[in-house]
Amino acid sequence: MVELKSVAEIEKMRAAGRVVAIALQEVRKNAAVGISLAELDQVARSVLAEYGATSPFLGYQPSFAHSPFPAVICASVNDAALHGIPGRYRLADGDLVSIDFGATLHGWTGDSAISFPVGTPRPADVRLIDTAERALAAGIAAAVPGGRLGDVSAAIGRVARAAGYGLHTDFGGHGVGRTMHESPSVPNDGKPGRGMKLGPGLVIAIEPWFMAGGHDSYVVDPDGWTLRSGDGSRAAHVEHTVAITEDGPLILTAL
Ligand code: MG
Ligand code: MG
Repeated sequence: MVELKSVAEIEKMRAAGRVVAIALQEVRKNAAVGISLAELDQVARSVLAEYGATSPFLGYQPSFAHSPFPAVICASVNDAALHGIPGRYRLADGDLVSIDFGATLHGWTGDSAISFPVGTPRPADVRLIDTAERALAAGIAAAVPGGRLGDVSAAIGRVARAAGYGLHTDFGGHGVGRTMHESPSVPNDGKPGRGMKLGPGLVIAIEPWFMAGGHDSYVVDPDGWTLRSGDGSRAAHVEHTVAITEDGPLILTAL
């Protein structure tokens, strides 16, 4: 079942989304060469505490995982695309980092992700991140009343294919609201004009993730969480929580 949100509820979601945006900004500011991923997780925990928010990631255990997620951020480095567990690894010059983060405030949740280079960026990584961000923008632009869910999916897939990147429709976008993962699911590829009709009050997380090598396969580490490109190439992942309003898409996880 898809729950549509009222204008007042969307405002509450915007408050949760703002905490997400602030935390991601703080994590990025601290993500210099030499810092550990566990230390970045602490940065995000501090922001949650400061705003009285809780983590929808911590302790989360979906059907695919054999253990609950132990942190408040997903930190995925280089060939890791999604769901990386922040541990003792210390960032090195030239790493490509993706941070995924959610916050729940007063019963409403926001979900967002950023990818960025650490230290000296590799041109190929800059292009990959830029393309993922363009796909996110294209998906958001398609999230308008009267459109279809397939328009959002198709917009993302089109950008990935034009750039020659690999994409997989597992682990795409989703409805978000009282919980992090709600209906409908928003795959990162699809057919325009198909799927659920988009109307005011629908709130979705849109989250392209692409693999530079152009292959569509992925592998999961023995930890049951960390998802890596199947060909070892680098990956990028970006995400916003977006409300569809009478006036068009409204990004809830932007400052
Ligand atoms: Mg996310
Ligand atoms: Mg998400």
